[in-house]
Amino acid sequence: KRQADLAAANNPAVTVDGHRIEVAANIGNEQEAVEAVKMGGEGVGLLRSEFLYLDRTTEPSEEDQLAIYSNIANTLGKNRPLIIRTLDVGGDKPLPYLRLPDEENPFLGQRGIRIGLAYPDILRTQIRAILKAANGCKMRIMFPMIANLDELRQAKAIIREEQEKLNVGSIEIGIMVEVPVTAVMAEQFAREVDFFSIGTNDLTQYTLAMDRGHPELAAKIDSLHPGILRLIKQTVEGAHQHGKWVGVCGAVASDPQAVPLLVGLGVDELSVSVPCIPEIKAQIRELKLANCQQLAEKALNLESAAEVRKINLEK
Ligand code: PEP
Ligand code: MG
Repeated sequence: KRQADLAAANNPAVTVDGHRIEVAANIGNEQEAVEAVKMGGEGVGLLRSEFLYLDRTTEPSEEDQLAIYSNIANTLGKNRPLIIRTLDVGGDKPLPYLRLPDEENPFLGQRGIRIGLAYPDILRTQIRAILKAANGCKMRIMFPMIANLDELRQAKAIIREEQEKLNVGSIEIGIMVEVPVTAVMAEQFAREVDFFSIGTNDLTQYTLAMDRGHPELAAKIDSLHPGILRLIKQTVEGAHQHGKWVGVCGAVASDPQAVPLLVGLGVDELSVSVPCIPEIKAQIRELKLANCQQLAEKALNLESAAEVRKINLEK
């Protein structure tokens, strides 16, 4: 099966009734971009840019970043999109050259885009590097942990200012949906972004109010909770109203039990861990959209993730 999936890896993921889902890769460094292409990744749906900033004593320069983003873009070639998520650190992931105050609740404190806006020089440098690297390729910028339209507008203003200074053209801008309120307000955000990518790891943590790394709560934290599925549905509806697309880049996108549900909810792209690409594509090729929609409808009305995991797709 693995051999057959690998052999077909470069074919698109189209359901038996002709509905195409884009299958992209989550990557965290340059080497994984090479692997993603080998595995049939149709792009990078999430580049976790943190790797550039962690484990070093000084901030990566614009030139350092430009070189790395350009290398990854070259690996992907002209036709595969590269979505770069801007720096997503917080009180729980220290940067030696950025003295963040200790926080009692780091997951509810300064993290994601809040750090970017609190220390705009770091964000500005990253955005300049991305804008310079974007020349001639399908590069996109994505902001993490957006909770308010105001944050989005401030971050977009920084992009606009740097575009003017560099005299470069526009770039597609998206946001992560990781905070429940952002899913609920998706229709409003959709007027001001080009795309969404749902970060179900954090979305689940914040919706259930359970630490995603907590060993004793692990069994209870399941992104297939019907409440999370409703938030995904709400995001898709808000986005599609304005002709914008929605991806899922949390771990649930790589879960074979979740794939038919996400397809049925209308998700347009799955960004998955690199080794999973061939089998997720193969799985989609055996699905029928109408059946996935029925399954999703059923799941939305169940009471728990455990119940959702028990229902099966009718072939
Ligand atoms: C997520 O929160 O689902 C996500 C993809 O981002 P990260 O896992 O890097 O927090
Ligand atoms: Mg996250």
